[in-house]
Amino acid sequence: MKIVVDTHTHTVASGHAYSTVQEMAREAAAKGLEGFVITDHGPALGGGPHLYHFGNMKVIPEEIYGVRVFKGVEANITDYSGNIDMPDEYLQRLDFVIASFHEICIPPSTVEEHTNAMVNVLKNPLVDAVAHPGNPQFQVDIDRVVKAAREYGKLIEINNQSFYIRRGSEENCKKFIALCKELSVKVVCGSDAHISFDLGKFDKVLKLFDELEMPGDLFVNSSMEKFTGYIGRMHRV
Ligand SMILES: [Zn+2]
Ligand SMILES: [Zn+2]
Repeated sequence: MKIVVDTHTHTVASGHAYSTVQEMAREAAAKGLEGFVITDHGPALGGGPHLYHFGNMKVIPEEIYGVRVFKGVEANITDYSGNIDMPDEYLQRLDFVIASFHEICIPPSTVEEHTNAMVNVLKNPLVDAVAHPGNPQFQVDIDRVVKAAREYGKLIEINNQSFYIRRGSEENCKKFIALCKELSVKVVCGSDAHISFDLGKFDKVLKLFDELEMPGDLFVNSSMEKFTGYIGRMHRV
């Protein structure tokens, strides 16, 4: 099984990531990826780009070095109602929108509150996936989150970087994968690269998929056709 589109990557625009779009594209081409999504952090995260960054992404070519470049954001969940730090008119112009909890933007609370927020985020028609939902700092009711993804036709991200930097994520990720498999909920794999060298790094995710015998048809980013098919059904301007 191969992941051909990396759906979670950061560029210098995030403030604490170190490669340009062009460097990312060059690395993607060298690694044989067919595409990647630029998902710099939303403006609420310190050092993150101004909204104008997202408004101007159309200047980035659709293809660089033969690699498809999709425009996106990793929006921050800013309250427990599930609001995010990006206005709808900006989200509508992007190809792919992921949203996540970061401690710097919202203090951790209870499982109930984390879950309510994540369910509401999945309900938002302009959000495609929740990113690193296995983060134990923001423990959720995995059953409710996966069922919400199924109800709203959204994706659960399995984040490779979580296994390195978000301690305790592995157990939660295993539960997410097992339940997604059981309920046929689609997933995406993101490297969460903050430097070009980490682009397309899915070692931990693929190992877990293998162990848990995750069916290939449930990964939306295992073919360009499946990925563009998924994003094509979303309402974008
Ligand atoms: Zn994140
Ligand atoms: Zn990220």
